[in-house]
Order: sequence, then C-alpha cells, then structure tokens
Amino acid sequence: MLKDIATPNRTKEILKKYGFTFKKSLGQNFLIDTNILHRIVDHAEITEETGAIEIGPGIGALTEQLAKRAKKVLAFEIDQRLLPILADTLSPYSNAKVIHQDVLKADLKGTLEQEFENIEDLMVVANLPYYVTTPILMKLLEEQIPVRGIVVMLQKEVADRIAAKPGTKEYGSLSIAIQYYTEAETVMIVPKTVFNPQPNVDSAVIRLLRRPKPAVEVQDEAFFFQVVRASFGQRRKTILNNLVNNLPNGKQKKADIEQALSTAEIDPKRRGETLSIQEFGKLSDQLLKSFR
Ligand code: SAM
Repeated sequence: MLKDIATPNRTKEILKKYGFTFKKSLGQNFLIDTNILHRIVDHAEITEETGAIEIGPGIGALTEQLAKRAKKVLAFEIDQRLLPILADTLSPYSNAKVIHQDVLKADLKGTLEQEFENIEDLMVVANLPYYVTTPILMKLLEEQIPVRGIVVMLQKEVADRIAAKPGTKEYGSLSIAIQYYTEAETVMIVPKTVFNPQPNVDSAVIRLLRRPKPAVEVQDEAFFFQVVRASFGQRRKTILNNLVNNLPNGKQKKADIEQALSTAEIDPKRRGETLSIQEFGKLSDQLLKSFR
C-alpha cells in the first residue's frame, strides 16, 4: 500500500519524480504532516455524506485525506504544472476531481450546483495560498455559496484578526466582514515545521460556521460595510471623527452624524474598535437616513 502523500519522504519522492519547483508567488507551502491533516479534517466534521471543496490542492496532501472521508472532493488548482502530478497521486481516489482554475475567477455557485447535485452538506477545507487569503474568504462569503462552513489554514496574524472580539487591537473591518456571515473560531495553531518549504509566518486553522442569517439585520448591507470601514479609518481617532472624515460629505453632515450616534446610543468619543456588530448595525441604519 502507498504511504500517505503528506509525509516528508513521499512528498520528496513526488517532487523529485516530476522535477517540481515551488512557486513562491503562488503561496506554495505543502503540508507534510498527516497528523495535522487528520485534525483539520476532524474540525470540518466531514462524513461520507459531505461534499468537500478544496482550494489549492498542491500535490494532493489534503485532498487525499478528504477523499478518504467525504463523498466527493472538488479541488481548484491554478498551477497547470500540478495537474499531471495530481492525476497520479490521486489516482486511487475516484471521488476526487481537480479543476484547473483560479478560484478567484471561478463561477463557484454554478460549478457547485453541477458537481454536488445530490449532496446537501458542503464544506470548504483548504490550506490557503497566503498571498490571497482575504480575497478568497470574501469571495466565498459574499457569493453566499451554500456551504455549512469553511475550515482553512492561514497566517496566524490573519486568523487573529478574523476571530477578534470588540475592544481588542486585532478587531477591525475584517473581523466584522467575516463575523457578519459566520461564527469564527481559531481551532489550531500550527508550527512552521509541518510545511515544505516552511513559510515565513506562523500559521493557524480557523473554523467559520455559516450563520443561518447575518449577525445583524441592516437596511443597506453595502452602506453598513462602508460605515464599518469609515469607522476604522484611523484607529486612534474617535468614531465621530472617523465618520466625519471618511464618509462622503461627512464634514458637511457632522450634525447628522452626531444625531445618528445619539439615537443609536453610542458615545461619540468611543473608538470604532469598541463597537459590536450589532452597534454598527444600529448606527448604519440611523446614518442611512441622512446619507441615502
Ligand atoms: N493543499 C496543499 C497542501 O496542503 O499541501 C497545497 C497548499 S499551498 C499552501 C496553496 C496551493 O494553492 C498551491 O497548490 C497553489 O498553486 C494554489 N493556488 C494559489 N493561488 C491559487 C488560486 N488563485 N486559485 C487556485 N489555487 C491557487
């Protein structure tokens, strides 16, 4: 029987057989520790009823572990050089399929509908390419693809920002953007030694469970996110100053902003980083009256 792909020796053998060289620009840091992979798949609660979606299969280390437990795995890989390798390494797994595509350009909804026709439970599981972590997560969430959740490896520093609570220095517009759609939790801190090559930064695995509906109901979603971004414009400034400086025509509308803060019962001297998602929701609905 073949050894798992994610062992230092088997990975070395595969890379050598195909003369593969890593492209740093594509965030290629492959996992070489089966134990870590098992734990990632455990956190995703994959069963034989689950359809798993992977972004960036590399040489198939995680794909293999997903294929062993899921009903089907669909993996998006941008690097053409990996396709013949994956055809080889994944040949024992008839339930694994690789699509050669930049996930950021993919029609995800259409593809998932087609590929997972009779599968209800969908989960994204990936060791993400770090240079595009945030755009990938935002695409998955904003396009509202019908998944139960997302379990991904990423930079620890980004995981800290995503899962941050109000009143901490990590809390910001990324925390709110992600927690608006999901319940976020860091489930593992991962040492550099489990990758080949080792990345320059520390890593973590985060679990995002999709909320049945967003964390707060707002009248205008795009405006809500505009208010959030404006509030974090300069972190050391008060919420009032940030809104005045960063909302369109904020200076002329200072009195309206003060009024909206007062109606939403938010002290204008507070900083954006202390406001909960619910408070941002209340505030954006009040501000909408004068910014519509
Ligand atoms: N899953 C493998 C593992 O854990 O060993 C590889 C993970 S590696 C961190 C990231 C993978 O994503 C690489 O295979 C890279 O080629 C691929 N990738 C990078 N950008 C991508 C994109 N925009 N769309 C799809 N795949 C991408």
